[in-house]
Amino acid sequence: MSSLEFGRVLKIDLSTEAVKVYDIARDDMRKFIGGEGIAAKIYWDEVPPNINAFDENNILIFATGPLVASGAPGAGRTIVAGRSPQSYPEGYTISSFGGEWGAELRYAGYDILVIKGKAKKPVYIWIKDEDVEIRSASHLWGKDTFTVRENIIREVNDEEAKIITIGPAGEKRVRYAPIIHRSGHAAGQGGFGAVMGSKNLKAIAVRGTRRIIKVHDPDGLLALVERVKKIATLMGVTTEESPLCEGYKKVGTPVVSELVPFIEKYKLRNTGCHDCPKGCHVFLEVPELGGGEMTCVQFFYCWLQLGAKGEVDEACFLAKQLADKYGVNVYELLQLIPYILVLNEKGVLSEEETGIPFSKFPGKEFIETLILKIANREGIGDLLAEGTWRFAEKLGRLKEYLTMEGIEESLANKFGMVAGYMGYGTGGHGYCAHYDPRDFIVSGILWATGHRDPWSYSHEYIAVVEWSGLDFEYQQKIAEIAWGSKDAIHPMGDPKYDEHEVRAAIIVQNRSVIKNSLPLCDWIYPILCTPYTEAYIGDIEMASKLFTAVTGIKMTEQELLKIGERIFNLERAILVREGRRREGDTLPDYVFLYPHRWTGSPPLDREKFEKVMDMYYSMRGWDVKTGIPKEEKLKELGLEDVARKLREEGLLPG
Ligand code: SF4
Repeated sequence: MSSLEFGRVLKIDLSTEAVKVYDIARDDMRKFIGGEGIAAKIYWDEVPPNINAFDENNILIFATGPLVASGAPGAGRTIVAGRSPQSYPEGYTISSFGGEWGAELRYAGYDILVIKGKAKKPVYIWIKDEDVEIRSASHLWGKDTFTVRENIIREVNDEEAKIITIGPAGEKRVRYAPIIHRSGHAAGQGGFGAVMGSKNLKAIAVRGTRRIIKVHDPDGLLALVERVKKIATLMGVTTEESPLCEGYKKVGTPVVSELVPFIEKYKLRNTGCHDCPKGCHVFLEVPELGGGEMTCVQFFYCWLQLGAKGEVDEACFLAKQLADKYGVNVYELLQLIPYILVLNEKGVLSEEETGIPFSKFPGKEFIETLILKIANREGIGDLLAEGTWRFAEKLGRLKEYLTMEGIEESLANKFGMVAGYMGYGTGGHGYCAHYDPRDFIVSGILWATGHRDPWSYSHEYIAVVEWSGLDFEYQQKIAEIAWGSKDAIHPMGDPKYDEHEVRAAIIVQNRSVIKNSLPLCDWIYPILCTPYTEAYIGDIEMASKLFTAVTGIKMTEQELLKIGERIFNLERAILVREGRRREGDTLPDYVFLYPHRWTGSPPLDREKFEKVMDMYYSMRGWDVKTGIPKEEKLKELGLEDVARKLREEGLLPG
């Protein structure tokens, strides 16, 4: 007997104002679980392959999962999915945000919200249990996200309403506009704020009072919660040797130690997501700049300041506040700012022509001008709003950008060590670099085959090899448990290009999509290493134990991974319908041309990398030549209908 009570969909068509509530078929819930999995299923069923991201037939899916609001720790995230205007080329992708909105949606009686169509005028949606209203947002159009939140709370007369909204950037379809929740939670990557803007949808407010989330085994769940509290750290921080240890211990968020004094100076408290004991966000209040939550990449301007001048000041908090208020994705700025600095040094972009005060970088004036120009698509901001790849393309410099030509002489060459290897550089498919393929070959496979920056949801590998602080021999013991072989990892910059590394990449991908389907936070799960056991070995089965305790459905880690494989293949089928083939599974040229300028890792060997990719397709059960899943693989995974559709459309190999 299971307690799986998940799968209620609220679907709103903004074109017709039709509101529909229905349940996902039980068989599909078992096959795709929730979150990322069920979002892929809905997208596959509903979205035609040849539309653009701003077409009103594009849909926006907000999917929680069966663990959200169940009491499972770190299960507060909501997945957002649709066709992305940020990806290059446009295509299906996902994003996610934490906070409390997803839990509130479940309390209101819904697990998934699907938005389709386009409102004739600006609107916001107010969901109060069974009452769903589409309200005018004309008076909110043009306003920043913090102001919108305050206004809507007043209008719905409910302090407990949870709100997601877009800023002016989303309204103007800035391709990397995020969706903002509270004062610092964002569905950042993907540009789904711009998709909301294209639908004339300013905000979605939710209040739920009518549903209690049932748990199959409350005592079992409580015991698991205590265990997670006891053994889990953030980002795998395990020993004092971890570069993130000081930040994690002193301010409760995993940041490099150089930022700790700044955070300590302005921190009021830690905040976080629903039901999460970790509270990894810091709420800072800076005189004249107000208060706001920060974690991870919201420290982007701090990193650039550290790289450029070795210290940080209040401008780095201003940068985060402006980005969150105007609704501009800080992750993309981390790719864009170094690039335009290089172009300024090369004489391609001048202060006079652009109005951007390059000489004031990394101060307040520079970042304020830049964010406002982008958010309002003003002057050069109109081009920059297209994202770094499209901007470079419009200048006729995309090829040059992908080789990183000119970086050595630039101020931007100093970024990176402090920025988790993000500053100046691209990872692929339009997105900012994040963990370099030259350091770890698994990163190359994830980047090549991903539909966005893959690492935001796949920290498990990097957590062990980079952030844990463990000696290599301990890492190898964990690699054997997590990825099937001690040879799944290699010393930084020394890949073997073999099947152990490929298998690791496949397992990381399968686990990543299942983690996003339950969903469980990537900063905590899987718990692979911990300072609280003798051999530093964590509890890899925690996700399946939590799922079983909440739903009553018996599930092992291996069974979950098999579902992850099904979801990953469904996503690949979506990409294939949208035109993705092996030729699209690429990395930017620079990783094959130059050594890594900070770690010293040598360039990847292109021939060996292609052989690794042959191995990858083969081990995935995909056609090596085209990168399309084979019919027998799809059938093995219970995706017969997907195989049939691909066959009808002449897309299946053989
Ligand atoms: S670790 Fe941080 S981001 Fe993850 S659920 Fe907890 S508070 Fe949210």
